[in-house]
Amino acid sequence: MNVLKFGGSSVANSQNIEKVVQIIANEAAKNQLIVVVSAFGKTTNKLIEAAEQAAQNNANYLDGYKEVELLHSEVIETLVSKNQQEEVKNHINSLFKQLRTLLEGCYLLKEITPKALATISGFGELLSSYIIANIANKEVDAVYKDSRELIITSNTFDKAQVDFALTNANCNAFFTHNQQQVTILPGFIARTKEGEPTTLGRGGSDYSAAIYAAAVNADELQIWTDVSGMYTANPHLVKQAFPVSHISYQEAMELSHFGAKVIYPPTIQPVLHKEIPIRIKNTFEPENAGTVISKITENGKPVKGISHIENITLLTLEGSGMIGVSGISKRLFETLSAHNINVVLITQASSEHSICVGIYDEDAEKAALKINEAFAFEIERHKIDPIRVEQGLAIIALVGDNMRNHQGLSGQMFSSLGKNNVNIRAIAQGASEKNISAVINSSDAKKALNTLHEQFFEEKVKQVNLFVTGVGNVGERFLAQIHQQKKYLKEHLKLNIRVVAISNSKQMIFDEKGISLKSWKEQLQDGEASSLEHFFQRTKALNLRNSVFIDNTANQKVSEVYEHYLTNNIGVVTCNKIACASELENYKKLKYISRKYSAPFLFETNVGAGLPIIDTLKNLIASGDRVHKIQAVLSGSLNFVFNNFNESTSFHDVVQQAQEEGYTEPDPKIDLSGVDVARKILILARESGYELELSNIENNAFLPKKSLETTNNADFYTSLIEFENHFQQLYKEAADNNCRLKYVAEFNDGKASVGLQHIPFDHPFYNLEGSDNIVLFFTDRYPVNPLQIKGAGAGADVTASGIFADVIRIGNQ
Ligand code: ADP
Ligand code: ASP
Ligand code: MG
Repeated sequence: MNVLKFGGSSVANSQNIEKVVQIIANEAAKNQLIVVVSAFGKTTNKLIEAAEQAAQNNANYLDGYKEVELLHSEVIETLVSKNQQEEVKNHINSLFKQLRTLLEGCYLLKEITPKALATISGFGELLSSYIIANIANKEVDAVYKDSRELIITSNTFDKAQVDFALTNANCNAFFTHNQQQVTILPGFIARTKEGEPTTLGRGGSDYSAAIYAAAVNADELQIWTDVSGMYTANPHLVKQAFPVSHISYQEAMELSHFGAKVIYPPTIQPVLHKEIPIRIKNTFEPENAGTVISKITENGKPVKGISHIENITLLTLEGSGMIGVSGISKRLFETLSAHNINVVLITQASSEHSICVGIYDEDAEKAALKINEAFAFEIERHKIDPIRVEQGLAIIALVGDNMRNHQGLSGQMFSSLGKNNVNIRAIAQGASEKNISAVINSSDAKKALNTLHEQFFEEKVKQVNLFVTGVGNVGERFLAQIHQQKKYLKEHLKLNIRVVAISNSKQMIFDEKGISLKSWKEQLQDGEASSLEHFFQRTKALNLRNSVFIDNTANQKVSEVYEHYLTNNIGVVTCNKIACASELENYKKLKYISRKYSAPFLFETNVGAGLPIIDTLKNLIASGDRVHKIQAVLSGSLNFVFNNFNESTSFHDVVQQAQEEGYTEPDPKIDLSGVDVARKILILARESGYELELSNIENNAFLPKKSLETTNNADFYTSLIEFENHFQQLYKEAADNNCRLKYVAEFNDGKASVGLQHIPFDHPFYNLEGSDNIVLFFTDRYPVNPLQIKGAGAGADVTASGIFADVIRIGNQ
């Protein structure tokens, strides 16, 4: 025999009830069933509201009643067979008549007694069970039974205590003789020994089902609801929550006591003793496995779920007169218990100077009054302060049987709440360590639930926030690459890369939530006026975790602001060589600040664009290798120029082409004069641990003096035409020697030089194509055959990908 319970949302309308009947039919084909149903949808709420309105003499009290009546007649019209309709309608109408008379009574008397409220609120189940039994009869052999004839309780009316001896005897007597395949009963309602109607408390249909399951020794108790099981947290509040496949009775009990409404807390008690498993299933997705609650504790995650209770009041009793005086807590709890006040949480500091209890808001006023009365003598003598009442609070709880075997969970819980600015008012952790709870402000509850869920159940995604300056060739490609790879990075590297700011020399835009990379150009056009200082101040003020300033320019002024970013713990990634090739002192200072403020400073693209040259060098040095000699062709633009220049081309045209294809610096003279290459070998030497200045690098320039002295691009290009013969002569000399011209950078024994060299055909540099770069590192570990890195060394795409790689390095740190 199985017991199935269908909650309010499962029977909220005709469509849902059809699903329920289908489930009953499927299950009845396998087992004899007891089916417990709740009231349709929100019927109970509406009945209670109508009763309260009537008692307040509000003439609109019948509005809710009428909605309830309409819903029930719609279901009867739609689902009850034609030949049964009259009989069902008659029965239901007589129930509605009684209900209306009771409501009228409250209206006239202007009051509602607990007994009347229990009677009125129980009508929902009386109606729903009778109608569903009739509808189910079309599919299965079903009989209806009124729970008030079986479940006997105390006469507290609301949340009445079950008399298990009488109830079990009634159930045994009835179910032993009842051979019907399906018995349908109302949940929630019961009666006293004297026959007065009572209820089992809000959400109590789960409990009714558990009482039957225990009484008949059912094989399984199934709770059919609107979610696919017990979730790691309330799925309506935590988007990332997921159903747990298996939890223990204790865990389920803790979770439900601390607010996981999916199961009414007392439900577990009766089935726990009989070890009957509870299965939570989704009426709307019956194929989902749901959650099994049983005796077994699953070894796995120490934290099984997070739940929370709203509407909590914290009462604090304190005073110097409490220390060492026995019996204070006894008197406090006796007072609360004498007035039926439920205590949700208790904490007491070891000094005994104060006791703190968490109760529901609805009890706060009464509790404060009664406690102040109980301690009036001590309060008058200033031994104890009047009770302190703090409202608008919530309790949040971590639950798991295995938490006691894991160290540091409470530390993680409180530090993650602290980092997210959630103020903790009180803490409780039972000695069994199945539950760690904290009292927090209600307004923080959702943030706290999500923070803890992220901490204990989700794979961590690291957010990296980029502030991008410079959107020329390289910057534009960089943004395009980020846009394209965003999803991949999130899925595979658990990195959420967001571009928070973009600027060029004129405008800038900021968006704390991340700029749309589809439309950044249009947005930037309408951006505010930018300045380096303003951009920095805005970036600093946002104070986002993992912030990185990206410099895609070749601008001296931009290179001068790195220091501000780094000292504010904002990383810097740059393809701009100026900072690293500036005075040694400045280079060393930036590296020092980067370490001191834990702000990464990465500039892989300063040498060889996207080629992993600096990173490789850093790894060699870090692992204890020493660099003796470096030979390199480091100018993609010069390599392009000398690969394309010959007796049938003009030097001017080839340089112009190199610039058009994006291989040169904005000022091509920086490349052709050898300054750019000198900067690169300087950076490599410095990264190898040598202390050099740019002036120490011997620059054997091949440009005529007049070209070197030009001050703008137009004059520079004109001078190239003027000296075409000079360039042709350089070419011819090399060709006559069967050599190719390469602009080579060398570092050897602490000295560095750059200049044009004749490269014979058997040299590794001879066949260097297009704009490729090559570096040979001769080190302790690579003394004869050098470590070689070769590949495209210029171009917007590869440079952008090198910047990208630096960003990923920061993300992976
Ligand atoms: P029913 O009407 O079927 O009795 P309830 O509304 O009483 O359903 O319980 C189901 C609801 O419990 C879910 O819709 C969800 O909002 C809430 N809930 C709270 N905590 C949890 C949790 N940890 N797992 C699943 N549901 C939860
Ligand atoms: N209908 C009752 C309520 O809403 C009982 C239940 O649904 O479990 O509280
Ligand atoms: Mg419920």
